[in-house]
Amino acid sequence: MREVRTIPLITGRCRHPQRMTIRNGSWQPADFPAMAMLIVHPDEGPILFDTGYDPAFLAATRPFPERLYRWATPIRLEPGQDAASQCAKRGFDPAGIRRLILSHFHADHIAGTHRFANARIHCARSGLEAASSSGRFSGTRRGILRGLIPADFGDRARFFEDTPTVALPPDLHPFEHGADLLGDGSLLAVELPGHCPGHWGLVLRDKRWGLHFLVADAAWSLDAIRRNMPPPAMTTALLGHTGRARGTLDALHRLWRRNPEIRLTPCHCAERAGEAGGA
Ligand SMILES: [Zn+2]
Repeated sequence: MREVRTIPLITGRCRHPQRMTIRNGSWQPADFPAMAMLIVHPDEGPILFDTGYDPAFLAATRPFPERLYRWATPIRLEPGQDAASQCAKRGFDPAGIRRLILSHFHADHIAGTHRFANARIHCARSGLEAASSSGRFSGTRRGILRGLIPADFGDRARFFEDTPTVALPPDLHPFEHGADLLGDGSLLAVELPGHCPGHWGLVLRDKRWGLHFLVADAAWSLDAIRRNMPPPAMTTALLGHTGRARGTLDALHRLWRRNPEIRLTPCHCAERAGEAGGA
């Protein structure tokens, strides 16, 4: 696999009872960072994995029923903290970013999509179809805000399901195959079913960390992977499929036990956000 560089971006935070994210957790609200990952590829330049919160999220959750989303999970987004502003600050003009990779269609992962108007968008067809066909109320309950999907999204989308697959490095067992997004083996999208329709992670070889698996929302924290501790069924059943989500978490737990040196990064993990300079 060709090596790439990664730069974690903390693109806002939400507040949520911990109990909703891990079984037997506390009912006290806890802060959950929303991380996107800037990937610098030797030929393609900057590529963004997820886009995090964005001021567009605040606009989309102003009316009812979308406002219910903001009431249930209040967010904090400082000026300049959105992914597009952070890319620009690092010298990467958002208009020049040629590819986005979206793990899934929850609003905290796609809100910034509209800021990257020239990017091809790698995502799951099943996720786009589920998000596009959900009603305003039922979508809001499940973390989907259709208004955040740009009008030209379909023209720019390249679906994981249509991308040729290759074998993953054997160290990643029990995960076996990935969609080779660039055709050079550097960015391999791996389906992580259960969290919601069309939920995928990304495997890459990181200059700093070696094999690095961005697991998106397959777990809310590294601690959950280490303890194989899923969210309560009321959360997984509302968003996706409890049995499949637990199967995915169990596979990540087995991977971690076999190969604890492989870096795993959940999007909302406070431990990883702390390492990125934003505990
Ligand atoms: Zn999610």
